[in-house]
Amino acid sequence: MTTPMTTPTATNPTVHDGTGPGLARALAGLTADQQPQWPDQERVREVRAALGALPPLVEPAAVDRLRERLAEAALGRALVVQGGDCAETFAGNTPEHVRANLHALLHCATLFEVASGLPVVPVGRVAGQYAKPRSSPTGPDGLPSFRGDIVNGLAATAEARTPDPRRMLTAYDGAGAALDVLDSVADTTRSELFAAHEALLLDYEVPLVRDGYALSGHFLWIGERTRRLDGAHIALARRIANPLGLKLGPSTTPDQAVAYAEALDPDRVPGRLTLISRMGADQVSDVLPPLVEAVADAGHPVVWLCDPMHGNTETAAGGLKTRRFDRIAAEVSGYFAVHRALGSHPGGLHLELTGDDVTECLGGREDLREEQLPERYLTGCDPRLNGRQTLDLARFVAEILLE
Ligand code: PEP
Ligand code: MN
Repeated sequence: MTTPMTTPTATNPTVHDGTGPGLARALAGLTADQQPQWPDQERVREVRAALGALPPLVEPAAVDRLRERLAEAALGRALVVQGGDCAETFAGNTPEHVRANLHALLHCATLFEVASGLPVVPVGRVAGQYAKPRSSPTGPDGLPSFRGDIVNGLAATAEARTPDPRRMLTAYDGAGAALDVLDSVADTTRSELFAAHEALLLDYEVPLVRDGYALSGHFLWIGERTRRLDGAHIALARRIANPLGLKLGPSTTPDQAVAYAEALDPDRVPGRLTLISRMGADQVSDVLPPLVEAVADAGHPVVWLCDPMHGNTETAAGGLKTRRFDRIAAEVSGYFAVHRALGSHPGGLHLELTGDDVTECLGGREDLREEQLPERYLTGCDPRLNGRQTLDLARFVAEILLE
């Protein structure tokens, strides 16, 4: 396998279409998976107009800076660590919580930096991670599924679960507040910090696109469930200049991976595209190598990150969704082994973590057990590593980086 040796000269990825109303038109006829059934389209139009008139949440210059940092990772000269809540919630969006998560993330970054001797780019799952894809539009109780605070409420009542477009304005305000905390953490710690979320809810994302940039966050990713190549999410991603992530699960074929790279990184710009594999501990060694090889052979200088969370989710005896620390660590170790064997660069990790003392994932050095899960199971969606488990995993990764 060959790692791309050429450094493309383009400094900005080509933006292939107009944005603003032109963008909305370009997406209009395409399949948009995982969107809510808003009860009132007139309200949606009002909220989209309001979002379109509000100031952007992040600056294009900071978005470009992140792409430059990620370019270093694409070229093997830096690492990346992305992490934070699976789902941010409005109630949980306190300065203390955001700060604790960012400090946990920075702690990982510092350990990786020391162990690898490379700069590490910290990117929070923060300030916009409010929308969630669901496996079914309704739950076993017959109610519409909870799609994240940006869409509806978690409480199991028909009223709470009815999608309310005004929640997008609350999300915008919450994201702004979280970005203020992010900036202050960056100042006190003298680090550069960036914000990422899944570009899932198009009625929120599209009005915040300005001059070819999605200014709802620095880094946006497309999830495993909304990445149909001819769908609206990929079409949006193609038309924005932000660095992009794409989640790839175990069913992805090498041809598909190349097709995505072609669609999202036609100019082969380092830092433009980050492929986030989430294969599961059992499959990573078999499934990941052909994808890495095919994308490299096609000449795309992507960053490869490992999300060891989403392929390792299980249901505990009491019914709570959980993840075992050992399975998470096993996928991480498989991911590093794959890249070592191929001679490609393991770009880093994408984690669901919190600095808070929650009881959502099993194991770790404290050996959290199933019967403890209900004690502080606070996640708005998927189980996160708590502060101690995050450090345990960071130490585990540091050991690998030192090898
Ligand atoms: C997530 O990151 O919370 C998520 C839903 O991941 P994926 O798209 O990989 O399933
Ligand atoms: Mn998740």
